[in-house]
Amino acid sequence: MSTGFAGPHPATQSSNSNCKLISLARRIMNAITTFTTIEMTEKIRKSDEEWRAQLTPEQYRITRQKGTEPAFTGKYATSNEPGLYRCVCCGNALFDSDDKFESGTGWPSFTRPVTADSVETETDSSFFMKRTEVHCSRCDAHLGHVFDDGPAPTGLRYCINSASLEKTDKPE
Ligand SMILES: [Zn+2]
Repeated sequence: MSTGFAGPHPATQSSNSNCKLISLARRIMNAITTFTTIEMTEKIRKSDEEWRAQLTPEQYRITRQKGTEPAFTGKYATSNEPGLYRCVCCGNALFDSDDKFESGTGWPSFTRPVTADSVETETDSSFFMKRTEVHCSRCDAHLGHVFDDGPAPTGLRYCINSASLEKTDKPE
């Protein structure tokens, strides 16, 4: 008389092939995630020589060597013309003139970047100060610093060097 328990249990077999399927699906999902992450954070990387050739000495000093222009000397320090401010190095859209305000500091000041991922920040401990450095998310160009003494709606003040920016017309 058969017990009905001879050979591999059907349920075990099916669970094995389910496992394989899940592991395959996981591998595909991982590949997609990796691909998307690379796509979104793809950086522009150039050698020092290439940046030097492309930029003016002042733009190079500020964006590639984390320099700061003297207050009230930059071309956008007190400008209130409408426009979209792009990275002078790579053209990435960074700030909108709608978010620009007169801070009285002598540097172009904005309450926020044009999108959350236009810029990245990093702690800067140079000159015996603890500040938050702001750079272009696409090419790492140094832009300036962000402080938490700005006006509404964000309370932030993105204090940016004119030399790191190029103002263009807003897209229609
Ligand atoms: Zn850039």
